[in-house]
Amino acid sequence: MWNLSPRFAKLGSDFFSYTNPTALTDNPRLIHLNHELIKKLDLTQTTESEWLAIISGQTPVTNYLPLASVYMGHQFGVPVPQLGDGRALLIAEHVANDGQIWEMQLKGAGKTPYSRFADGRAVLRSSIREYLASQALNKLGIPTTLAGGIITSDDAVYRENAEPAAIVLRAAPSFLRFGHFEYFARHNKLSQLQQLSEFCCCHYFPTIDVKSPDFISDFLEQVCARTARLIAHWQAVGFVHGVMNTDNMSILGLTIDYGPFSFMDKFAPEQIFNHSDSEGRYVYARQPMIAWWNLYRLADALVKLYPHPEKLESILAKYADYYNRDYLELMTAKLGLSTANSETDLPLIDELLPLLQQSQVDWTWFWRRLSDGSSGRLQIAAQYPHLDLNNWYQKLDQRYQQEPLTAAQRREQMLAHNPAIILRSHLLQSAIIRAESGDYAELAKLFTVISSPYQELPEFADYYRLPPAWATQISLSCSS
Ligand code: AMP
Ligand code: MG
Repeated sequence: MWNLSPRFAKLGSDFFSYTNPTALTDNPRLIHLNHELIKKLDLTQTTESEWLAIISGQTPVTNYLPLASVYMGHQFGVPVPQLGDGRALLIAEHVANDGQIWEMQLKGAGKTPYSRFADGRAVLRSSIREYLASQALNKLGIPTTLAGGIITSDDAVYRENAEPAAIVLRAAPSFLRFGHFEYFARHNKLSQLQQLSEFCCCHYFPTIDVKSPDFISDFLEQVCARTARLIAHWQAVGFVHGVMNTDNMSILGLTIDYGPFSFMDKFAPEQIFNHSDSEGRYVYARQPMIAWWNLYRLADALVKLYPHPEKLESILAKYADYYNRDYLELMTAKLGLSTANSETDLPLIDELLPLLQQSQVDWTWFWRRLSDGSSGRLQIAAQYPHLDLNNWYQKLDQRYQQEPLTAAQRREQMLAHNPAIILRSHLLQSAIIRAESGDYAELAKLFTVISSPYQELPEFADYYRLPPAWATQISLSCSS
């Protein structure tokens, strides 16, 4: 049952514009529902036809006025002073039975006051990408906004060609971005900036005392810590976001706004996946640094409330410590170590990565095979004959000798930290091509497979294999 508890909506009209969805009306149909999420939200009484009506924008959630929020952003390093939810609408703030309040958004439900020259729509292919990726990251244990359902219709959306439209229902405790804070600072609306900062700390960072004179620096520190954790997760799993503009950075450290993202197949830290990013600003290798740059922009906004730039600088400097700690923890878990020692283990990781890069080794496959001990090493040698890891294995085995874990325990740990499947581009592409012809079975199957990424199920054996040669031809842009 819906149990509404407006909080964001109470911030007032400086923060958003009430905007109704523009429904997709030409034969709208439900493609998929995330039943696990619906259960978590205690919304199982809503029927499939009611979900279709809600997600297509036909029927509003009773007693909630949909709204689009205003924010700004640094896009590819350049400030854009006025952005906002251009094609997203907050359609409910719902309390689950456990007390957790969820913001629920439609993405692709038509124009808003922040749409600028665009149409407020989302095409089917990019909506499927967001829908499946949200599930994939969530099940890999990576903080992300969640997706509850996806619908499509015969309404056409014009990009390079006419394409089918779609709408995704997504959910998160908050969709606040760095750009929300930047917006009020940039436009000198300092009381609103204060209000937003207090709102955010009260609801999402409850250990922060907003009455404390240093609450802004505490706030920045917690955002630095969460962002560092998020990026460490991305690096460990080989996820490239593709458009890390400050308007795409969640204040809660969630993965948000899936556009031209990629899960890496071959380990290629400098590879540009987003063709709109001609300079490679957002490649894998640069993500940790870009996150720090983005945190700097957030600090630039917050300093207007807390004129102690040196204090905020010292907090920003801690980002590297948080990141290095989390990265080491996640990578040593992948290596099968039960303890992390930066002096011995970082060099071990740093020695491995260039070897994987040189031999164009598949990131996910490598780690999964490495989990299998000597038989896995044989498979790696057979697959990549030019990859000479003998020296490195010797060092790894020496390190294992200092460990309390038995070989069986180590294998168990490694299999729990090295997924058998990530949402590879070719798997996504196959599901999209089928869906564009009206067949959603592959999408549903892929949703199921990525929902258990650490478990290899014999019936899904095809999904765990190395990608086919055509996977390297898949090209992505910001168009969505
Ligand atoms: P993105 O790069 O997808 O994060 O989008 C940047 C900004 O453009 C955000 O404010 C979006 O809401 C807006 N935007 C992107 N695509 C559209 C669209 N088709 N219609 C309206 N606004 C859009
Ligand atoms: Mg965005």
